[in-house]
Amino acid sequence: MCIRDSIKDTMLKLSGELPVTVNGVTSTLATRNTHSKELDIAMGFIEAQYAAMGLKTVRDPYTVRGKKLNNLVIELPGKTNPSRVVFVGAHLDSTAGSPWGNEKVAPGADDDGSGTAGMLELARALKDLDLPFTVRLIHFTGEEQGLWGSYAYSDKVAAAKTDVVAMVEIDMISYCAKPGNRLDIHDDIDQNGSHELTVRFFRAIKRYGINLTPVDTHNNAVKDRSDHAGFLDHGYKAVLVSEEFTDDGFNPNYHTVNDRVKNCNLPYMVEVLKAVTAVVAELADLK
Ligand SMILES: [Zn+2]
Repeated sequence: MCIRDSIKDTMLKLSGELPVTVNGVTSTLATRNTHSKELDIAMGFIEAQYAAMGLKTVRDPYTVRGKKLNNLVIELPGKTNPSRVVFVGAHLDSTAGSPWGNEKVAPGADDDGSGTAGMLELARALKDLDLPFTVRLIHFTGEEQGLWGSYAYSDKVAAAKTDVVAMVEIDMISYCAKPGNRLDIHDDIDQNGSHELTVRFFRAIKRYGINLTPVDTHNNAVKDRSDHAGFLDHGYKAVLVSEEFTDDGFNPNYHTVNDRVKNCNLPYMVEVLKAVTAVVAELADLK
């Protein structure tokens, strides 16, 4: 299956347009709200995709407000310096505007079905390369309630004194209705030296002739809007990579029941994944 068909299939399943079969039970993921039972099924579906690639997954539990939830962690161990770790994140949960209710319909195809599907393709691309450093992929939950999963996880990363190279969050990477294929890189005004990551994206896009126009947003308002925030708070380099987020090209379907695959631009998303794959491989010291 080509990458565009693969991400389309994953996103259609994650957003409830195609059924999923997990452990022999077929269901429809009309919502991935953090409070829904479907979120757990969605995680099971993602686990099965990694298992089919021969990759192990680990559910990493955390508790917020007495509620027990899990992030999903996949590790691609480094070959020469495995203690150095590059983190990549996307959030599995979705909302249609009422994150505190148990929403029955919240397709979240772009937000963040795109990042979720993208992580699977990233794993497929990287898993057989002999990367010197470790790459750890995290599917976060509770993002729409206030970055619950990523705050909990980044606290653990810091408590374990992990040797963090950088963190790259991919959240909303499939909407682009204007010409020019704009890609926003949010480095929070070089917080912790994170502008270095923005530069890597600009260089990779140019070097490999990727069909994107990168924009360094320098936009402080984006901080605390996605799962890179906890990593920034702990002093690590981190960026949020997204479609046009801060200007007039913003996705009008954001947090609505219209956040569906038919409104996504999958050729654009493939270009974004090329850039993310190139930069993550480089951060993992692939020469
Ligand atoms: Zn999001």
